[in-house]
Parts: sequence; structure tokens; C-alpha cells
Amino acid sequence: MPEEIFNREGTKIERPKFLTDLLAEVDSFDESLFPCNYKREEGEPVLGMVSPWVRKLYSIQRYYHRQMKLTAVDREYTNPSECAGDCDLCELKYKYGILNEMMWTLIRAESNLWSEPSVGIRENWQVVRSQPDDDEDGFKKFILGMMRGK
Ligand SMILES: [Zn+2]
Repeated sequence: MPEEIFNREGTKIERPKFLTDLLAEVDSFDESLFPCNYKREEGEPVLGMVSPWVRKLYSIQRYYHRQMKLTAVDREYTNPSECAGDCDLCELKYKYGILNEMMWTLIRAESNLWSEPSVGIRENWQVVRSQPDDDEDGFKKFILGMMRGK
């Protein structure tokens, strides 16, 4: 039963269906489908553990990342024209973007890692201090840029 939400005038309002549906999708996602299989390397101290719900978030954002890449490759061979609205690839990018950002924010929140320059996830759901990954950083910038409409 979702909690009731009111605006300042006391009128009952609805949480956006998109958000409710997205969170329900995370709730029901099987985290074993896309587990974290990166081995912890020398010099990566363990800073915390990923909580059970955030494991689902990790797994589902990996799923969306995969779907996004598969769709992009498929489009390259079937419809190489530019995006013309109502586009499944754009929807996947936005969903992946919000799930990925939510995951990293929650991982930082759960272990109080707000000031860590670079955090990673390793096998057995360990949160570690990692070396910044240039490729991933570039990709994240690309996603964030896209989300800001650049
Ligand atoms: Zn598009």
C-alpha cells in the first residue's frame, strides 16, 4: 500500500506512475541474473557491502545497459538514420541513466562514502575504493550530457 502524498494546499497527489513502476521493477528483479563478477584487485580496500535491495539495482542497471547496447547495435544495421522521436533506444538510455545514478548514490549513502573520489563494486558485493576508470567516466559523461540535453 503506497503512502499518501499531499501538496502544500493539502490536496492529495499521485507519485508519477513511471517512478512507481520503475521501483516495482527493481523490487521484482532477480539480482542473480546480472551478478557483479569483477574480482577485487590488490590495493582496493573494502569500504562496505552492497545492501540486498541495491544488489537488485546493480543487476537491473546492468540489464538495461546490455539492452541499450544491443538496441544500438541492432539499429546500426537496420535503421542507421537519426533518432526521430518515440525512440526505444532513447528510453533505454534514460532508464539506464537514472538506475545507474540511483545505484551509485545509494551505495555512497549506505556506507557514507560521499567524499570518495572513486568507488567500485566487486565479487561478493564488496564496495571498494577503486582507481577511476577513464572509459566508464567518459561514458558516464556522455550519459549525463545526454540527460541534460546536450
Ligand atoms: Zn532516440
